[in-house]
Amino acid sequence: MSTLELKDIRKSYGKLEVIHGVSLDIAEGEFVVFVGPSGCGKSTMLRMIAGLETITDGELVIDGKVMNQETPSARGIAMVFQSYALYPNMTVYQNMAFGLQQAKLSKDEIRKRVMEAAATLKIEPLLKRRPGELSGGQSQRVAIGRSIVRNPSIFLFDEPLSNLDAELRVHMRAEMGRLHKRIGRTTVYVTHDQVEAMTLADRIVVFSDGVIEQVGTPLDLYNKPANQFVAGFLGSPTMNFISAKIRLNKGRKVAETGSGQLPLTDNFDVVEGTQVVVGIRPEHFVLTDTEDADIFVNIEYSEQLGGQTFLYCAHDNTEPTDSEQITVLVQGQHILDENETVGLTVQAEKIYYFDADTGESFSQH
Ligand code: ADP
Ligand code: MG
Repeated sequence: MSTLELKDIRKSYGKLEVIHGVSLDIAEGEFVVFVGPSGCGKSTMLRMIAGLETITDGELVIDGKVMNQETPSARGIAMVFQSYALYPNMTVYQNMAFGLQQAKLSKDEIRKRVMEAAATLKIEPLLKRRPGELSGGQSQRVAIGRSIVRNPSIFLFDEPLSNLDAELRVHMRAEMGRLHKRIGRTTVYVTHDQVEAMTLADRIVVFSDGVIEQVGTPLDLYNKPANQFVAGFLGSPTMNFISAKIRLNKGRKVAETGSGQLPLTDNFDVVEGTQVVVGIRPEHFVLTDTEDADIFVNIEYSEQLGGQTFLYCAHDNTEPTDSEQITVLVQGQHILDENETVGLTVQAEKIYYFDADTGESFSQH
């Protein structure tokens, strides 16, 4: 196992800088997940750690040693990609043994390592098959097996599950978690799937446009997003955003929208007159009688899931946003007409406030 330190790492392709100074300390045995939208630099970061891409500036430190110039194998790193690229003419056993043969290990040692990895991944019955005879999930296990046999001290995964269908993804996600518990190696895992990030990570690193937006445990980021970007990225369905202005109403601060007023807790330090973006998760709305409502929305359509109901609504607001889409998730079955106007309330403690200009979260002390 190894520690991994990224110190102000930058990457440019020609004149264009795509990673703008990333610093992060990863502890021994930690499972760190990089998330962020497509093109934000996740793969580039991972490839620089692996040694598949040069580091333009900054230092990559593994176990206290600067590794910028070392080859991938000297770094003790194994990487698993989204596409498995197994050798089609070799059996599963041969695919897993190939790298070890290249490294001139003895036949006995190779057999021992392949059999151990096959046992860990429960793929012993597949060892004689060829890649064409494997399902997506099985191919994925073989690809992981091929990296385990090299006994790396750090695992890197670049969207390893994104080629699998939805059901298999959920299954393999749990397998990835169990595998990490069993072998406990330092792991950096890239995904754009926020559920994978929430469920697998010790810590999540949220990237956008080549910078880190926030680092923390999954629940830290979910409960205390530093800004609107992070708030909108984690959580499914995503957080609703509503434009509002802070006003004083009978001595209390409220956030005024086009249809009503949302409450603030006493300890939100937002100044009267500030234009804000209010963040509310779909599950935190409560349907209510109109006289008690904080705001009003118009139902566009609903989805009945039996145990829960999704309401997709429009919120009439004023400048700068006019009409906003609002998703409401309520427990139980609610049969409501399309075009019906319903009232919503939210507890003040469940509401997030962001600066309308910068997107930064206002602190709740
Ligand atoms: P992600 O994995 O988060 O989707 P990437 O790391 O693949 O993002 O890409 C980050 C940025 O770097 C993108 O803007 C992409 O176009 C650019 N990029 C990646 N590889 C190259 C390359 N070989 N040459 C030029 N630009 C590249
Ligand atoms: Mg990528």
